Amino acid sequence: MNITLQKERLLIIEGEVEMKILLHVCCGPCSTFVIEQLKSEGHELVLFFPNSNIYPKEEREKRKLYAEKVSEIYELDFIFDEYNHPEWKEFVRGLESEPSGGKRCAKCFEMNLTKAAMKARELGIENFTTTLTVSRFKKSHMVIAVGRAVGSRIGVNFLDYDFKKKGGYDKSIELAKKYGLYQQSYCGCEFSLRKN
Ligand code: SF4
Repeated sequence: MNITLQKERLLIIEGEVEMKILLHVCCGPCSTFVIEQLKSEGHELVLFFPNSNIYPKEEREKRKLYAEKVSEIYELDFIFDEYNHPEWKEFVRGLESEPSGGKRCAKCFEMNLTKAAMKARELGIENFTTTLTVSRFKKSHMVIAVGRAVGSRIGVNFLDYDFKKKGGYDKSIELAKKYGLYQQSYCGCEFSLRKN
């Protein structure tokens, strides 16, 4: 995080500054707690769902549907990308047999976070972050390292929240139950599906 952003965070804690943030959302359940935390800090959010990593298409449509439902619950704008799984497969080519949490996942984060940063830049939004760190199945330090690199390459501030902290994962599960959201049983791509 750069010095300017650190100053912004300090002012936010004092309730004096709000930011407009493009939030990359991976699915409905993970979005709930993250949205509540960011809204409680006074930020204005736009939700963005790219996620061509998800396989098959029906699963991707289901996760998109529930992410959109969450946007309606919290009265937020929701933007999505067209599904392009072949593009994602090409991006991770050669890493198919990597274990979960390995190099393929870092590339997968890179693709979605690059799309998020580019969408933020297109919309004139100066900050972006992601729900990916809330999941206990994803390594926050890896997500954050990729987010910082992407942010500095595209020229948009990546906010390095670790939403797992303060029981974020358990709270997101509770909220997902409260709102009747679909909760998936695998990470997303066909390589994670095969392991279930
Ligand atoms: S296991 Fe999950 S994070 Fe890793 S490549 Fe597949 S969809 Fe992406």
